[in-house]
Amino acid sequence: MPFIHGTKIALIGSDEFLVRCPCCEANSWAEIMVICKYYSVYWVPFCPVSKEANITCTKCGLKRDGRAFDADLVNNYNEIKSKFKHPWYAYIGVTIMACIAGLIILRILFELFSNTGGAKNP
Ligand SMILES: [Zn+2]
Repeated sequence: MPFIHGTKIALIGSDEFLVRCPCCEANSWAEIMVICKYYSVYWVPFCPVSKEANITCTKCGLKRDGRAFDADLVNNYNEIKSKFKHPWYAYIGVTIMACIAGLIILRILFELFSNTGGAKNP
């Protein structure tokens, strides 16, 4: 059976921000599309990989795709980063793995306590 995996993208949101345009050589308004890139296994989202921004300058029309969405891109990054969070479903694989690990730990603890309990009270 082939192991099907890879990265997929999902649109988080879009807005206009003041960014430095290399073509205009000044700060100008730009339409920014923020995209979540996530790793998927058998078409099930596993975990987010990165946040990217596709930028279109509203003054000169310069398009820049696949730029990292971080503090270097926009000045008020700390204010707006909470507005562009990875979608909840990007964490499905990680959540399933955490649940399985939690069940294994509970099972081990249950075995451990049931054995010692039996030894103390024969
Ligand atoms: Zn420009």
